[in-house]
Amino acid sequence: MSRYWNRRVRSLSPYIPGEQPRDRQFIKLNTNENPYPPSPRVIEAVHRAAGDSLRLYPDPSCKALREAVAERYQVKPEQVFPGNGSDEVLAFTFAAFFEAPGPGSPGDPGSPSHPGTPPVLFPDITYSFYPVYADLWGLFFQTIPLEEDFSLSPEKYLIPSSGVIFPNPNAPTGRALSPELIKPVLDYQGRRHKVVVIDEAYAAFGGPSMVPSVNDYPNLLTVLTLSKSASLAGLRVGFAIGQEELIEGLCRVRDSFNSYTLDRLAQAAAAAALADRAYYDGLTRKIIATRTRVGAELAARGFTVIPSAANFLFIRFPRIPGARALAQLREKGILTRHFNQERIADFLRVSMGTDAEMDRFLSACEEIVKR
Ligand code: PMP
Repeated sequence: MSRYWNRRVRSLSPYIPGEQPRDRQFIKLNTNENPYPPSPRVIEAVHRAAGDSLRLYPDPSCKALREAVAERYQVKPEQVFPGNGSDEVLAFTFAAFFEAPGPGSPGDPGSPSHPGTPPVLFPDITYSFYPVYADLWGLFFQTIPLEEDFSLSPEKYLIPSSGVIFPNPNAPTGRALSPELIKPVLDYQGRRHKVVVIDEAYAAFGGPSMVPSVNDYPNLLTVLTLSKSASLAGLRVGFAIGQEELIEGLCRVRDSFNSYTLDRLAQAAAAAALADRAYYDGLTRKIIATRTRVGAELAARGFTVIPSAANFLFIRFPRIPGARALAQLREKGILTRHFNQERIADFLRVSMGTDAEMDRFLSACEEIVKR
């Protein structure tokens, strides 16, 4: 605590990202990065962009990049909002569409001055940045429990809200929900003019996408990223796709904050990545094959393995607490992710590495279980 921090900063509990080690070589299975390199065309685009033009501000509207997204996902460029990683897009989304209690309200959703400010809804087990954004913007939120098997029951989201957000596939579980099951939530919240945000950070790995439905639902915003499926976590590019009304709302927030969120290198490289579909489809197929193989091998050895449509597996060691499994893997040079949260404290989230890395992971697991 510092005496210089204002009340808002004092009250924050910031998100803690997964470790990015600098000292020692680890097999990194902790932050859902892609183990394969980005397309060579991306590197060429960065080289081309790294010239005299860096003197000039980048295109604030990211026109070429929006056109590349539009081409790839069969929408209009006006339906695309790019940002500095999907984290930034999500932060703007919370600011643009979810309602904070109005001035004069003491912060109680049932207060007489604002009897009707209902909470933002998201699952109890989900991307841990959501409550952080809600707190940053001073929003109420209510977490909706996942079922015992970590599946998400969409009917629990048919209640008054100031908006709904969840990842599909969900993180850190990897479980996916079919678009047909999401549509009743869009209808219910749509009748109340509330936005439903589907965070598709991992949808490229087998989760069904809601992007084809954006023209049917004015209250549907999908959020995607190049960090995982396009091997570009280091570039920081994500984007939202939705109807123009929603995209305009995001632009209003961005342009009240920082008009140039994407630099010239990022805009050029991201557009090149989106254009090289054949290369990335090959990587995705490889990662899905690895996930299927590793999941089956772990299950055969008595691990609990949650069915995953993402580039990671959510697993529980037989009879070994999650924190201990995490530490023992780390000792063996393998980083995974553990969440110290009720219901999932015995699980680890394991990003899919190369097949050679996953073989070392499987041997390490076997040694730990035998010990
Ligand atoms: N959504 C989910 C569900 C995630 O797991 C992540 C990665 N931490 C993100 C969004 C953000 O990804 P990025 O900012 O790299 O696009």
